[in-house]
Amino acid sequence: MLDQESYQREHHQRMIDGVVAIDFIQNWKIVHEVKQSRAIEKASEFQLKYYMYYLKKKGIAIDQGVLDYPKLKERIELQLTPEDELEIDQVLHAIKTIINQDEMPPRTKKNICRSCAYQEFCFS
Ligand code: SF4
Repeated sequence: MLDQESYQREHHQRMIDGVVAIDFIQNWKIVHEVKQSRAIEKASEFQLKYYMYYLKKKGIAIDQGVLDYPKLKERIELQLTPEDELEIDQVLHAIKTIINQDEMPPRTKKNICRSCAYQEFCFS
């Protein structure tokens, strides 16, 4: 509802390849991610940068990412830097390594687990 009320005129959520769900894209140049949270988190920045990275790999050059926090009436503008791309490459490589292991790595419970969408997979 927050998404719809705050961004009704330009809100068009797009699912790309069934992999990334982008809140809206202005002119295929600026990607927006709308956050209902009152907390500005590093994970949200990297979520948005991953969307920019993903689109770049598909040949869509994105100029800017914008994290919108309607409850805070705040927005953060981001760029995807070569360092970010390198870090995302490394994270994706690490994820593939874990996926291809025969055994699951030991569980480590962190504070972020409480609000993670995958909590059920890890702890049930
Ligand atoms: S619940 Fe699982 S996937 Fe989510 S942050 Fe914790 S360990 Fe990672």
